[in-house]
Amino acid sequence: MSELNLILLGPPGAGKGTQAERLRDEFELPHISTGDILRQAVADGTELGQTAKGYMDSGELVPDEVIIGVIIERLGEDDARDGFLLDGFPRTIGQADALADALGGLDRSLTAVLLIEVPDEEIVKRISGRRVNPESGRIYHVDYDPPREEGVDDVDGTPLIQREDDKPETVRNRLAVYHEQTAPLVAYYDDQGLLHRFDGTAAPNEVAGHIRATISTLRREEEI
Ligand code: AMP
Repeated sequence: MSELNLILLGPPGAGKGTQAERLRDEFELPHISTGDILRQAVADGTELGQTAKGYMDSGELVPDEVIIGVIIERLGEDDARDGFLLDGFPRTIGQADALADALGGLDRSLTAVLLIEVPDEEIVKRISGRRVNPESGRIYHVDYDPPREEGVDDVDGTPLIQREDDKPETVRNRLAVYHEQTAPLVAYYDDQGLLHRFDGTAAPNEVAGHIRATISTLRREEEI
């Protein structure tokens, strides 16, 4: 397969980031996370960050016209020439159409959309227990992956915080936004024959195994 142009789709907290890190290492693809790009922009105090912050803190989506240009530009960088792994984009039909246009203009197309499914209740449990080292970005979970000493990073002792948008009421809003604005992409990509579904309640290794098998099958099909 010449290119591996992949999208990871699914609600916040489905494990897209975890899977993306594994796929990145295995297939040598750049992991392009819009959430990470926007959080970095907020931390750097750039114009993009200043625009995005209010939306992010309340769990709303940043407007399409703000995010689309950023991602299209990122996809044009050298390391994305042979493929990419989009995590958190597209999140609306407008974004998906813009992505298709941009790829089409470069004579490229999507290889597959990997949908990681997790029920809402499980998402709320996962996200509201998440704690982050604000310096390094290292992530823990109060039940599933607790630090050795409560509230403190194992590696450098930095006090852990809860991200503003990980607070339970914001998580509920993020889920509502997902169902309203992002879930329509499931049918959108299914209609194009691109969608592959994965049970995100399984252990991360198991999910990774299923995704790997799907990518191998896609590659074999292309060789035939
Ligand atoms: P994430 O870490 O992917 O859940 O993203 C965190 C927040 O960044 C979201 O709740 C949105 O406010 C914003 N965001 C990330 N990706 C997008 C996108 N593709 N479109 C609009 N807003 C986004």
